[in-house]
Amino acid sequence: MYKKTLLPHKTIATKAGIGWIGKNNLFITPWFACSLCIGTVWTDIPIQTTGADTIPPECGVCQVCIDICEVGALKGHSWSTESNREDIITVDKCTTCIKCMVHCPWTHRYIREMLS
Ligand code: SF4
Ligand code: SF4
Repeated sequence: MYKKTLLPHKTIATKAGIGWIGKNNLFITPWFACSLCIGTVWTDIPIQTTGADTIPPECGVCQVCIDICEVGALKGHSWSTESNREDIITVDKCTTCIKCMVHCPWTHRYIREMLS
């Protein structure tokens, strides 16, 4: 097990129904693409909660991130709630170059909308 936690922020975010995990193993939302940093707040405050539907991955046939990853860390697997991180990425190959984030079409769309 390498750089792994029992309850990742990404798992919580997908259960909150605000996005999905792309083939680049990054959390993607329709609003901010993968250009975001997520965190989790633990609390025992008695707040009302509601269930949320999981958003399925919206990568489609795109494989930009897989093609651009120079070290071959990404495996081309489409995420589902049954997926393990290791289905998607070989973590110890990843150099955190962030090319898979920068070149994702969702990131391009976000930047276009931000600049318009
Ligand atoms: S951060 Fe770089 S090395 Fe890691 S998966 Fe993305 S493209 Fe590959
Ligand atoms: S580059 Fe394409 S395949 Fe990779 S995460 Fe973005 S949309 Fe999905």
